[in-house]
Amino acid sequence: MFDVIIIGGGVAGFSAALFCARRGLGVLVLGKDIGGQANFTDQIENFPGAAPIGGFALISSIKAQAEAYGVKFIQAEVSKIKLAAQAFTVTAYGKQYKAKSLILAYGKTPRDLGVPGENELKGRGVSYCANCDAPLYKNKIVAIAGLGDIAADAALLCSKFAKKVYVLSKTDKLIAHPSLVKAMLRKKNVTLVPFVQIQQILGEQRLSGLGLINLKTGQHYDLPLDALLVELGYVVDSQISKNIVKLDEQEQIIVASDQSTSLPGIFAAGDATNRIYKQAVISAGEGATAALACFDYLMRQQGKHGLTSDWTQIKRVKS
Ligand SMILES: Cc1cc2nc3c(=O)[nH]c(=O)nc-3n(C[C@H](O)[C@H](O)[C@H](O)COP(=O)(O)OP(=O)(O)OC[C@H]3O[C@@H](n4cnc5c(N)ncnc54)[C@H](O)[C@@H]3O)c2cc1C
Repeated sequence: MFDVIIIGGGVAGFSAALFCARRGLGVLVLGKDIGGQANFTDQIENFPGAAPIGGFALISSIKAQAEAYGVKFIQAEVSKIKLAAQAFTVTAYGKQYKAKSLILAYGKTPRDLGVPGENELKGRGVSYCANCDAPLYKNKIVAIAGLGDIAADAALLCSKFAKKVYVLSKTDKLIAHPSLVKAMLRKKNVTLVPFVQIQQILGEQRLSGLGLINLKTGQHYDLPLDALLVELGYVVDSQISKNIVKLDEQEQIIVASDQSTSLPGIFAAGDATNRIYKQAVISAGEGATAALACFDYLMRQQGKHGLTSDWTQIKRVKS
């Protein structure tokens, strides 16, 4: 019986693990992989205190920090969560693990384009996060795949850095908000390429371009590029928490300010939650909060005083 099982091997999961273990809790992390979405990026340049670093290297260092405090990690996919007799049973690859509390940190995944070459070149010129990667494309030629607000937003952001931004569209219209489309098309270095479909992502070690088809003429041609930003939104797979904790209409876990969910004893952190902004440092912070709230919950369950901390002793300064 563990004090807490954390589901997810990304930045939220290992940050939560570190904070739980430093409070003396027995922690098991079950994760399909090590790194999560951070593995999809060339470099993370905005994690405070860390020099530009590969995503896998960053998460591996948080994992090592957590393991130094006794955290156990098993690479496995959780398929079921069950609550019975005040304990949670988690099933992964047919094996069952028990804990007094859970932290859900299973993240999300970007929606794929689904064309040949995409999987091979993810993180090597094929990106899914303009907010994260746009500054990496200074003076480069990039293309945006997507038609909605996030695609237009990505084009606007990339226009600040890239030499040239192509917005590829199957029609001659974008479904983004008109004001965003207007702002985007006003940029001198942004060009809307209508009636095209991406057939293939080209390149060996890195993306070198796209194989396109003109949907009006049927003509095939190659577009040389430095990067492609796939801006089709994200998918959260909350199958394991359905009917256990409350989810929003996008199946994100609804959390309170202390990262607690609708079911006592279950906390959630990172991109899987309904918090509006999603970044590595935000997930790390949510992981830390979830861990402290979880510790407080476990202490109170044992009839002990909950989390006592100096920050509850704040006194107003008289003016
Ligand atoms: C291309 C790209 C570039 C990015 N660049 C940056 C950047 O430069 N800076 C920045 O701050 N942010 C960046 N981000 C965002 C950042 O990576 C995410 O906000 C962050 O990784 C989310 O962490 P997380 O732990 O909440 O979720 P995730 O990283 O999604 O991790 C979730 C983990 O849970 C595992 N999991 C899922 N389901 C299960 C299950 N059933 N059982 C067991 N394990 C499961 C997954 O395999 C994964 O290990 C980028 C994102 C992308 C896609």
